[in-house]
Amino acid sequence: MALFRPIRVRLTLWFVLLLAITLAIFCAALYLALRHNLNSTLNDSLESRAQIVAGLVVDVDRVDVAELTIPGDPVEGEEFVRVFDSSGNLVFDNSGEKFRPPDDPTAVSAALSGAKTRRDLDLGPELRALTAPIRANGKVIGAVEVGLSTDALHSTLRTLLVIIAVIYPLALIIASGGGVFLAGRALSPIDGLTRTARRISAEDLSQRLDLRLPDDEVGRLARTFDEMIARLDDAFRRQRQFTADASHELRTPLTAIKGQTEVALQRDRDPAEYRSVLRSVNVEVDRMIRLVSSLLTLARADAQQVPLTKESISLGALVSDAADQVRPAASNKGVSVRLRNGAGTQVTADQDLLLQLMLNLLDNAVKHTPLGGSIVISWSNQEGHAKVVVADEGPGIPSEHLPHIFDRFYRVDRARSRDGGGVGLGLSICRWIAEAHGGSIHADSSPGGGATFTVDLPMH
Ligand code: ADP
Repeated sequence: MALFRPIRVRLTLWFVLLLAITLAIFCAALYLALRHNLNSTLNDSLESRAQIVAGLVVDVDRVDVAELTIPGDPVEGEEFVRVFDSSGNLVFDNSGEKFRPPDDPTAVSAALSGAKTRRDLDLGPELRALTAPIRANGKVIGAVEVGLSTDALHSTLRTLLVIIAVIYPLALIIASGGGVFLAGRALSPIDGLTRTARRISAEDLSQRLDLRLPDDEVGRLARTFDEMIARLDDAFRRQRQFTADASHELRTPLTAIKGQTEVALQRDRDPAEYRSVLRSVNVEVDRMIRLVSSLLTLARADAQQVPLTKESISLGALVSDAADQVRPAASNKGVSVRLRNGAGTQVTADQDLLLQLMLNLLDNAVKHTPLGGSIVISWSNQEGHAKVVVADEGPGIPSEHLPHIFDRFYRVDRARSRDGGGVGLGLSICRWIAEAHGGSIHADSSPGGGATFTVDLPMH
């Protein structure tokens, strides 16, 4: 039912139910304890009254009521005193007509044989009677019957019942109201949270709840929510930036192709000119293929769809393989690629991905190293980690760019970098490969002193 859905109503219902059960147990215990106490007090009064009367009527070995007047403090609610001799004859009775209790020969004969009997009588007022033996020298010489009113007992119990009947529902009503109020107060920040959360959409993730709440459960929920929105905001922003950058990078070669083909088609040209245009188009298409495959690699990496086929590989063999692959391009520029032999280091890694990482670093090094310069690759192992360092003699990377060069589409010199065919994704892919292996990559550079890239990989 919709009415019972809000937490505050459900909380209150549980609270009131528990209170109702607790109060009911408490009231029942109070009533029973009081009734037991009042009953024992009345019974004690009957006993002591019977003893006093018995003490007054003993004459050696018989009952003598000649001078029986009931002395002492009158007992409140005392209704009658009756005395029987040893034969069970009624010898004294002050009950009068009004409260004359019905004779109970069984109680009298029980008393004469030494037993006490209690009975409740309704003679207009309600009474309790005790019939007890009168003893002299250890012998039963008669019986005494005293009656006390039970009105006080019953009216006290009735009053208690009335109080319970009024207070019980009243307490539950107050508790329900208080429960709804308190639950409402405790949960009201959640309503605020829901309202603001509803306003936050994927298009506008800049909003925050910013609720100034104490550091309790709700406060922590609101702060966690804000942190989550901030992370989403960041992820969406990077996603938008990534899409914009990717579109931009794709448009550049497409515009170049469009321009060249349009110019070529303006009039008839000889085969050599067509070949030249096709060669340029081919260069742009190569650029697009490289870009699209880099984008695909990163998209798969983001979706964690690139399975790592790890095996034990020799770092030295992998590094010299990569060096061999870039040597032709390097020697075209008069750049030497040298290996500074490290220990025979084995790493557990995905061979293809690690080779791609090395090739990206070496491609960059070749691209940036000037004619006649050299590139040095060294590797070592330290405390379970393998380290590969690629150092070149290029212009290095200005320190303000160093923190960003692993970001997607980041290029230090946009115009020059594009001429070299780069779009700023190579190092992002390197970072992803290093991190996918549980390792890291970082760059160092001193102005004019070349760039050094260090890859740190756990060996297992
Ligand atoms: P790109 O594909 O454009 O080379 P990268 O992600 O590989 O992109 O590199 C990002 C930027 O870092 C490059 O544009 C370049 O400016 C700079 N960079 C990378 N390697 C080197 C290097 N060895 N020396 C100097 N600059 C470098």
